[in-house]
Amino acid sequence: MNAGEPSGVFGEATDTEARIARLERQVLRERMARIEAESIAEKGLRDLFESTQRISLLQKITDIANSSNEVNASIRAALEEICCTLGYDFGNGYLLDGEGRICACDTWFVQEPQDFARLVAVSRKAEFEVGNGLPGKVVAKGDIVWTRELYSITGCTRAKEAEACGLASACAFPVRVENEIVAVLEFFTRKPVHETKELSWLMNQIGTQLGRVMERQRAWSLLQTARHDTLTGLPNRAILADRAHAVFASLPADNTGMAMIVLDLNGFKAVNDRHGHHAGDKLLTLVAARLGRSVMSWQEHHRLGAKTLLARTGGDEFVLMLHGRFDSTSLNTLAETIHDCLAPPFRMGNTSVNVGASIGIATSNTVHESHDHLLRDADLAMYEAKKLGSRRTIMFTRELGTSVRRARQLEGEVRDAVSKGQFQLYYQPIFTLGPNTRICGFEALLRWNHPMRGLIGPDEFLSCAEDIGALSTIGEWVLQEACATIARMPPMAGAVESPFISVNIAPEQFLLPNFVKQVKSAVNGAGVAPSRLKIEITENVAIIDAAAAAEVLTEIRRWGVKASLDDFGTGYSSLSYLHQMPLDSLKIDKSFVASLHEPKNVNIIRAIVDLARDLELTVIAEGIETSEQARVLASFGCQQGQGFLFGKPRPQWNIFGLLAA
Ligand code: C2E
Ligand code: MG
Ligand code: MG
Repeated sequence: MNAGEPSGVFGEATDTEARIARLERQVLRERMARIEAESIAEKGLRDLFESTQRISLLQKITDIANSSNEVNASIRAALEEICCTLGYDFGNGYLLDGEGRICACDTWFVQEPQDFARLVAVSRKAEFEVGNGLPGKVVAKGDIVWTRELYSITGCTRAKEAEACGLASACAFPVRVENEIVAVLEFFTRKPVHETKELSWLMNQIGTQLGRVMERQRAWSLLQTARHDTLTGLPNRAILADRAHAVFASLPADNTGMAMIVLDLNGFKAVNDRHGHHAGDKLLTLVAARLGRSVMSWQEHHRLGAKTLLARTGGDEFVLMLHGRFDSTSLNTLAETIHDCLAPPFRMGNTSVNVGASIGIATSNTVHESHDHLLRDADLAMYEAKKLGSRRTIMFTRELGTSVRRARQLEGEVRDAVSKGQFQLYYQPIFTLGPNTRICGFEALLRWNHPMRGLIGPDEFLSCAEDIGALSTIGEWVLQEACATIARMPPMAGAVESPFISVNIAPEQFLLPNFVKQVKSAVNGAGVAPSRLKIEITENVAIIDAAAAAEVLTEIRRWGVKASLDDFGTGYSSLSYLHQMPLDSLKIDKSFVASLHEPKNVNIIRAIVDLARDLELTVIAEGIETSEQARVLASFGCQQGQGFLFGKPRPQWNIFGLLAA
């Protein structure tokens, strides 16, 4: 405003302008405030939108984690959800191998495959050490890694490929099971990544959710390993027991409708020993496959609707459980199908091997109290089948159960008897026959002092001892005990020669490689003259291995121990064996003596005595019960005899008294 101008009019104009200016300022302020308010509202909306997106992403990942047991599938789904929601171009998954390496698991997601082909190719099989590359850095740091300069990361082998497709920003986060990092997920993006608190929180949550899948898979695979046979992939004993328990519980009141087939391979051990465990393992997988096929083919042919479960329950033992409709004929057919399927040789590399099977079958009935009981019966039948040789099937019966259970009990008791030293030797005197009858020796006869049943004779337990492999242990003890008795024997009144003790030797013991050593150590241990010990073998040793038997006999006789052929005439050996065997004496079996009144036996005994004389063998007759038998045998030229006429087998103290008398 100029000086001296009337203030009225000009003053009014000035006021108006000032008001306008004020209004303009006010409008401007309001506009600014509105813009600010709008932008606040917009940001709020955007934040709200982003946080809704984040929550929805987390929800989706949680759903994936809840519904999946498969690690790779859940990683793949998570990569896709994350890329699509957060706008990342490429996502890739890694698993830790437990040995410090981080290995890509060939699981990735890419928005535009054609643009990122090269990066995908190098990423899907990439491997990193801890500390190297993006995944390695995550593991080293134990937390999320963000970068806008990929190439700045140590050991980042893919920076070039990433850069070539315009990717410079990346982030990666760990997947954890509790505190352990088990996987890493990495993402590449063309847009610069923004590290925010919310995103970090989101990625941590996703890592935890995916970790749950991995934890479940670990537990599942542990369970699988524990319940499946890792070699053949068949269910193991635990699964069989579970299913069998359930099936047994579902049986009708009469317990019908369930069967167990136990199958044990014959010849498997030989494959293992000869071709190694690797071949053994391979054979088991081939057997399992053939068994599976034969069970299926049986099911197709016998449309009875029986359900089956094939399990491997031990080294070379398989069990097939049946449930539903079947009969004994169809079970036998099944067993035959199994035998047939195993019959062709198994080809393994350059060799082929043969194995057979022993099969035991048991069907459920009212006697069975549990599936276990049924399985035990099938097992028992299988062992019986095994005794008969390969390719045999035995169906369990109650009678079989009773006899086998008795035998098992006896086996246990015999084992006990061996460990507790419940055996004792009785001695039966052997006399010279003829006018000057006198004691010339004793036969040592084994007795078992059973704690409940008293004294038991060898016929009741020797074959059981043989079955459980205890015969040679017992035999060795018998040798030592007999020699100890020789050592303690008082001198016989008026005798020129000291009496011998005859010890029965089973073929299994006689043909042991260390038998000669056993004899020598028993004789030397007792400090007695070898000539006072006589061993009694039967014709069976000659049948098993005549040459080996002759060799052993030659050696122990050269050393001074005497040898006798027991039970002569009862075996199947031909007289030629007798000729080959270097022996001192032979014992005519008591069955010939008992029937001495029969002319046929008289002739046999005469022939034996004549033959023995030609071979310069002493003849001893067993089982002499009457003086008439003794007289006749002596008249035939039989030099020695033993039997109830002269005395029953008796304990050591008793023969010492006899000798002194
Ligand atoms: P063995 O060697 O032929 O023994 C003779 C058997 O006839 C003995 O039976 C004896 O008690 C019995 N005996 C003796 N005199 C008479 C008689 O006048 N009449 C009748 N009826 N029997 C008589 P035992 O002691 O029961 O032995 C049976 C078999 O057991 C023995 O037959 C022998 O083969 C075997 N044995 C006995 N002790 C041992 C042993 O320490 N080791 C082995 N491996 N086998 C043994
Ligand atoms: Mg004998
Ligand atoms: Mg005999």
